[in-house]
Amino acid sequence: MENFDLHNHSTCSDGLLTPTQLIDLATRTGTDAIALTDHDNIDGLEEASAAARRAGIGFVPGVEISVSWGETTLHVVGLNVDPASAVLRDGLEGIRVGRLQRGRQIGAALAKVGFDGTLEAALALAGNETLLSRTHFARHLVERGAAKDIQNAFDRYLARGKPAYVSHRWASLEEAMEWILSSGGVAVLAHPGRYDLKPMFRDEMLTQFKGLGGTAIEVVTGSHRPEQYAHWQRVALEYGFLASRGADYHGPGESPCEPGRLPPLGAALTPVWSSWAH
Ligand code: AMP
Ligand code: MN
Ligand code: MN
Ligand code: MN
Repeated sequence: MENFDLHNHSTCSDGLLTPTQLIDLATRTGTDAIALTDHDNIDGLEEASAAARRAGIGFVPGVEISVSWGETTLHVVGLNVDPASAVLRDGLEGIRVGRLQRGRQIGAALAKVGFDGTLEAALALAGNETLLSRTHFARHLVERGAAKDIQNAFDRYLARGKPAYVSHRWASLEEAMEWILSSGGVAVLAHPGRYDLKPMFRDEMLTQFKGLGGTAIEVVTGSHRPEQYAHWQRVALEYGFLASRGADYHGPGESPCEPGRLPPLGAALTPVWSSWAH
């Protein structure tokens, strides 16, 4: 199997490496083609594409869109999107504006449990208020000793059901699909094993995603535990989805695997890239 890694972050969302640093890392690990898929943002694609050209590896322009499906937040990855698409650009801009407002509420909730000044600190880490992510709050909580690592900061404060969780309306599934498809991309459901959905709702979500033009689901991802791969392989085959593979890399010390260092997709699966010219 070719070493495609189709889910990675940079400083243009909540990653720690610049687009160029990310591409250089992927080159060192032997990645044949890499996608940059920042949250709700495509500003890094130009730099990443140029870096990949210099390094001689393949590049797939992508994005990871935040979607509200009922009370559940889903992530839908668009691959091979056209960064010049006005529909995509305008849509993403529209969902980014809410990040600062949500951040203020997260900051207020953290103050209530004893941590002052977290909004300012998280903003300084994000560098740009429209990129402000829970990950930036988590990094700050780790820095000040309130949590032992990022995962622990989510488990104690930031995950759904915890004291500083603030629910937020992102794009609808219909909108996200329309932005991806109208910009020439294919839609991939990110890390399906991370959504806390009862089986009936999970089936409904997958059926809706497929009905709206969804092509693939991630099976092998840094956001699944290895023991989950077989389950999502079965689901991909059952629903007739192509399969994707991606580290969901955020930075050194924060992600279980580096770009290009994941196990291959199971032989029974059809990779989402199988029909791409490369
Ligand atoms: P946001 O879009 O600001 O709500 O942040 C979502 C990001 O937070 C995800 O893309 C992950 O990078 C990170 N994240 C969410 N849940 C967890 C978790 N339980 N542990 C570690 N990181 C998480
Ligand atoms: Mn993230
Ligand atoms: Mn995600
Ligand atoms: Mn991601």
